[in-house]
Amino acid sequence: MFVPPRCPNPSCPRHSAPTPRFYVRKGCYRPKCRPRPVQRFRCKTCARGFSRQTFRADYRDHKPHLNVELVRLLCSGIGLRQLARLVKLTRRNARMKFEKLASHAAWLDHNLKVARPKSRGRSSFEPQRLHFDEFETYESRRNTRPLSIAVMIESRTRLLVAAVAAPIRPRGRKTPAREAAIARETELLGARRDRSRSACRWVFRRAARMGFSGVVVLRTDEKGTYSSYARRAFRGRRLVHLRTSSKIARDRRNPLFPINHTEAVLRDLMGRLRRRSWLVSKRRRFLNLHLALYAAWRNWVRPRFNSDDLCPGELAGLVPRRLSAGELVGWRQDWGGSSPSPSWTGRALPRAD
Ligand SMILES: [Zn+2]
Repeated sequence: MFVPPRCPNPSCPRHSAPTPRFYVRKGCYRPKCRPRPVQRFRCKTCARGFSRQTFRADYRDHKPHLNVELVRLLCSGIGLRQLARLVKLTRRNARMKFEKLASHAAWLDHNLKVARPKSRGRSSFEPQRLHFDEFETYESRRNTRPLSIAVMIESRTRLLVAAVAAPIRPRGRKTPAREAAIARETELLGARRDRSRSACRWVFRRAARMGFSGVVVLRTDEKGTYSSYARRAFRGRRLVHLRTSSKIARDRRNPLFPINHTEAVLRDLMGRLRRRSWLVSKRRRFLNLHLALYAAWRNWVRPRFNSDDLCPGELAGLVPRRLSAGELVGWRQDWGGSSPSPSWTGRALPRAD
């Protein structure tokens, strides 16, 4: 039997400080998409009604049984249009489901990395080993709207710490046709701003907020700005910054192999990052949502390597076990640290951590 862990109304005192019997049972309703009736409750303090569904990520969803399949396909290189064909949704509904699932996944990923620091089983004396890099893609038009994706991983566990796409100015060889296209776009949309620096800084801040306190060992290529981002984000901590020339062979022996490999996997499993493909992001916002969804899948559901049983989050000591795909899209996570743990059974109160 489901036991509500707290009042779902964030402005109610029983949201942050629930008492054991803060609610009363209040009938049930029969949703169209489920065979069993769903119990309703009422908060004794704020009198708001709610049900088990209020705590679920598929709250108010049509066809919630498709959610797991959608996440699997979106993290397997399938684009939104083909996804809509495969699961028999309209293109609009597939896009709306993708947006909702990806926003949920972003919260889940954030909560497990940052908002639940007490569940960290790892010694803070162990160095935080990180790899950072940027790689390029584009939104809508390859020759005029390039993007740079700043990506950071934890080197040993391959935990995707953060990845975000930001606009950059068109660069490289400019043919007269390309110059004309850029001029047309500038007239139409204004000059394209370069936001890659703020994206990099955001990624470094995310790594710093993960609650580690020991030495930071950072590996990057030789781009000059990275060391200042690192010094600023990890202020007060000992930082060892190792640089590798991007001219040496990009094979397994390359010290940057873990990040190069991560980028190659991203290009493969997020179809919209593939080179010379028509599966391109029309808008940057959707690319960032997709990055968040993929990060959650990668960090908490997928094993680190095919030969592994453990997921990156588990190896980093952030979760006790791998989540199932169903748990990934289960309990809602938009209450930050007071969200139910994704692996909660729903039966007893979740642990305070
Ligand atoms: Zn309440």
